[in-house]
Amino acid sequence: MPPAAPDAGPHDPRRDIPRTDVLLADPALKDAARRLGEGPVRTAVRTAQEAARRGEITPGEVRTTVLSTLPPGAASLRPVLNATGVVLHTNLGRAPLSEAAVAAMVAAGGYTDVELDLTTGRRSRRAQALLDALVEAVGPAQAAHVTGNGAAAVLLAVTALAGGGEVLVSRGELVEIGDGFRLPELLTSTGVRLHEVGTTNRTHLADYAAAVGPDTRAIVKIHPSNFTMHGFTSSVAVADLAGLGLPVIHDLGSGLLRPEPLLPDEPDATTSLAQGATVVTCSGDKLFGGPQAGLVLGRASAVERIRRHPLARAVRPDKTTLAGLEATLTGPVPPVWEALYADPHALRHRTLQLAASLGRPAEDVVPVSGRVGGGSAPGVELAGCALALPVAVAHALRAGNPPVVARVEHDRCLVDLRCIPSTSDEELATAIRTALA
Ligand SMILES: *Cc1c(COP(=O)(O)O)cnc(C)c1O
Repeated sequence: MPPAAPDAGPHDPRRDIPRTDVLLADPALKDAARRLGEGPVRTAVRTAQEAARRGEITPGEVRTTVLSTLPPGAASLRPVLNATGVVLHTNLGRAPLSEAAVAAMVAAGGYTDVELDLTTGRRSRRAQALLDALVEAVGPAQAAHVTGNGAAAVLLAVTALAGGGEVLVSRGELVEIGDGFRLPELLTSTGVRLHEVGTTNRTHLADYAAAVGPDTRAIVKIHPSNFTMHGFTSSVAVADLAGLGLPVIHDLGSGLLRPEPLLPDEPDATTSLAQGATVVTCSGDKLFGGPQAGLVLGRASAVERIRRHPLARAVRPDKTTLAGLEATLTGPVPPVWEALYADPHALRHRTLQLAASLGRPAEDVVPVSGRVGGGSAPGVELAGCALALPVAVAHALRAGNPPVVARVEHDRCLVDLRCIPSTSDEELATAIRTALA
């Protein structure tokens, strides 16, 4: 038989693969390009066309393949259901924001009057309302300043108040805060010299008093926020340190503004300043419950020196952070505190319902204790419960959509509802059903 002429051959389906310009003109893809940018859409188009060229999909499937492989958002960070029972989970972004804080941050996303007095048309102090609200929330504070995070607040306060000199720090407070970052190294990176006093377990007022020299500019007290020490220990109260007549910079870490009965060992800004601390520093995204930020509160003259220091400009937060902090402070109870105060009976009820909806026995609902986390209140256990699943499910849950991060303990996968809003229970059940299948 003579070979078939090329034009008489079978129709090559690859010729039917929709062209790029045709696909990009499709209303659904145009809409996706508006949401995601043109780059990700073009990438998805190219990938689908190549799959069609290899015969993995038919030309008719190219458009739907593009739509189903587009990323859900313009950023790659994905919302996750935190089923670990750890309220401030550093790897999951610490404090989840309240709806009010999210709304305030979105509203401040465009042009906003962050540094403009709309009445006079003149420049105003950045986020004055937030600073006022902070001062009002912490009685003994005369002034407040905000930085990009807690470490920046420490860095700035120490540089501004003790730059070129020496600070006294107890050996019991030279802590590593996570991911290899150590506060003593942060302090010395400012050029300030550290004068360590006392021992790991015990430091006395006399140790500080004996160490004061001509170069001593301040005492830095650091809350050992991520571990507890028991036994033969002692440290010096802020009131006694203040009696030495030097500025006292108290790094609280967690951001409690007032004493909190649930967390009796956590220091708070009000008490520390009332006892004579010159300034306190803390994070905005730990127990304060807001976006990543650092807070400095204290005496007006010291806060003014901090605010005017050149480094202040390098560590200042953006407008959306300032908006989110204010809404966290003045708005409804942030999710962090709802999770910390979650009623154990209500948690058990929800967990039993979850078990029932998955056809798991009530015995799989086991008591567990949740944690504050995020380097806060290390000794505190929050009574709660979890649904115990086979350990292999943990991986499938993380790979799901939405990803669910559970706790793996004693060869079980524990799903703790403490940090999951009850409005997400349905979504969680579906995710677990998929992971079990
Ligand atoms: C968390 C913490 C910091 C650092 O705060 P970031 O907001 O993470 O920068 C500093 N000091 C203490 C005691 C802390 O617990």
